[in-house]
Amino acid sequence: MEAKIPSHSSYSWRSLAQARHVIRRGTRWRIGNGTEVSIWRDKWINSKHPCKILSPHQVLPDSAMVSDLVDPETNQWKEQLIDSIFWPEEAAQIKSIPVFSTRSDSLVWMGTPIGTFTTRSAYHMLAEDKNGQMGSSSNPERLHAFWKSIWRVNVPHKICVFMWRACSSCLPTKTSLFTRGVTSFSLCPICLDEAETMLHSLWDCGFAKECWQNSPLSHIWNALRPTSWIDLVGHVLMKTGKLEGEVFFVLAWMIWGCRNDAWLNQSHSEASKLGAKAVTYVEEYLDANERVEFVRPIAAQKWLPPPPNCVKLDVAWKKHTNRTSFGVGSVIRDDAGALLAAHCEVLPQAGDDIQMAATSVITALSICQDAGFRNVMVESSHSQLKALILSKEECLTELHESIDRIKHFQLGFCFLDFHVIPGSCNRAAKSLAIHAKEALEPSVWLEEGPAVLLPIVIADLP
Ligand SMILES: [Zn+2]
Repeated sequence: MEAKIPSHSSYSWRSLAQARHVIRRGTRWRIGNGTEVSIWRDKWINSKHPCKILSPHQVLPDSAMVSDLVDPETNQWKEQLIDSIFWPEEAAQIKSIPVFSTRSDSLVWMGTPIGTFTTRSAYHMLAEDKNGQMGSSSNPERLHAFWKSIWRVNVPHKICVFMWRACSSCLPTKTSLFTRGVTSFSLCPICLDEAETMLHSLWDCGFAKECWQNSPLSHIWNALRPTSWIDLVGHVLMKTGKLEGEVFFVLAWMIWGCRNDAWLNQSHSEASKLGAKAVTYVEEYLDANERVEFVRPIAAQKWLPPPPNCVKLDVAWKKHTNRTSFGVGSVIRDDAGALLAAHCEVLPQAGDDIQMAATSVITALSICQDAGFRNVMVESSHSQLKALILSKEECLTELHESIDRIKHFQLGFCFLDFHVIPGSCNRAAKSLAIHAKEALEPSVWLEEGPAVLLPIVIADLP
């Protein structure tokens, strides 16, 4: 099967040789005496694809043959040796294979139940492979897109580097150190239960499992049984929402850090708290970046005061990564830019962005009304919401109740008007929406505000 194809070969030999990848793909060894079959390289265990040993190489050299696992005197498997080298499932699979000292090893075709080759079954196998490749990392274009997508995740650069190294097996797991001959064992130093591979360290090990199960990504842990770390990351990048990807990257990075601390006998965070820590980390990172973004255009666009005898109510909201809540912030200022009232609170998340925008406006308008303001210009950054509020037509979606409530506010005010402003002009309310998470309960300030708000109000002064 490994023979070279000389240029002077006959047509039929060349055709056959060119098809050998099909044969290599579709055949596995049936063990006789085991002398022709390599333990680590050949396909010989009767499992589902790939039929190869997946346990990390240890004890026996790379050149070891299956016959090295058989006791020549009794013609039985060396069970103790097998149990010490292979993962339990593989050890069990090996021991279930019958050994025949008098029979040589033979290749069997896996495309048919009885093991004989047919062109039809080979065709089916190739078609199946092609379909499979569309969704696996063996497709070069896909692989390229995969590597690129790692760098697009919105986390600090060092975490993208970590993930890139984890996916290219560049991180020093015990298994990779063992294969390179650096250490003499490959067991996970934390659970001492299984070989420390990338997938084991960051996903399967008890510590990692507890971290994922106590995080907002527990549904992914519960639903997936990945076979490799790179497959898992590929799935997360393709199938999950944007913020989930960020939390996934950060939590994996934190788990890796904790494992190393544990290995070096340093104290590390509790597994049950790491998920929440990862979420806060992502939120703070995104907030910091967002702040930078809306500080930049400030020279061009700035908050403008309302006309005399009118107040401006600015409203903003901020979704939380946990997907169960969001922060609302609102600020009321007069025509001199003076702060008259401010408010922030956390509300349960329900519905889409526009529903959240509507709920924020309703909450802010209620407070504005209770505080006794009668001439109000409302500003927010959701243009679709403004269009719905001003529309004469009846809203037919689930939003209609909220839109009706906003329209109904007209009755409680002498003057009520709605405007859309860019985020750069709405920094005061946005800072409160972000601050809402730290304030433990709904907060309303009259003629003052929390420390986070004051520098922005001063910068906004006309
Ligand atoms: Zn472990």
